[in-house]
Amino acid sequence: NNTQTAAKKYIIACDAKFAPFSFEENGTYKGIDVEILNAISKAENFQYELKPMDFEGIIPGLTSNQLDGALAAMSITEERKKSLDFSNGYFESGLSLVTNKSNTSIKSEADLKGKSVAIKKGTAGAKFAEDNKDKYSLVLNYFSDSPSMFQAVENGNADFLLEDFPVIAYKIKVDKNSKLKIVGDKLNTVNYGFAVNKGQNATLLSKFNSGLKKIKDNGEYDKIVAQYIAK
Ligand code: GLN
Repeated sequence: NNTQTAAKKYIIACDAKFAPFSFEENGTYKGIDVEILNAISKAENFQYELKPMDFEGIIPGLTSNQLDGALAAMSITEERKKSLDFSNGYFESGLSLVTNKSNTSIKSEADLKGKSVAIKKGTAGAKFAEDNKDKYSLVLNYFSDSPSMFQAVENGNADFLLEDFPVIAYKIKVDKNSKLKIVGDKLNTVNYGFAVNKGQNATLLSKFNSGLKKIKDNGEYDKIVAQYIAK
């Protein structure tokens, strides 16, 4: 019914700790995901409530309809497409191999044999480690957010971690005391997409796609990204 549609306030999740895409600073949320969502909602005239969460809760939140959508630097994968619908890609990313600066034994994927890895629950990085666990005899250590995963490698509690390139590159750039380094080139290339429960939120998905096109065309998208990532 029309009244309900007009009053609809979407519940949209972001990752609570995933700079430069979504993070808290002085009590407010900011970042590329937070700001493009805000710009798109204005361009498309919809209301939403932002729900910062641990990534591991986001896909279950979508599939149980507790969330209407998620803009959480989520990689578009074939596996996820079985339970989610994705928007057009809005940011190119991929996984990086990351070690402590003092590590001299890991120079490429070929050196991972028998190493322990820090991974974040529910992520593409965790999936990569799980898929390669037997091949490299990996020891898996799970964390609920990226800062805890970074700490594990900084403190020597894990040999390496897997993180999205733009996120680890930003961390190393802004945190002058970081003990982390990126090893080699990205392991893959993926796109991030806005996600909704499969077959259940076509309206919101098309608003996102339409708004994304508008903010790309009018330069707002580039302005937001440029605040965080130098070209
Ligand atoms: N892009 C990664 C994934 O989709 C990580 C996302 C995140 O940690 N917020 O799994």
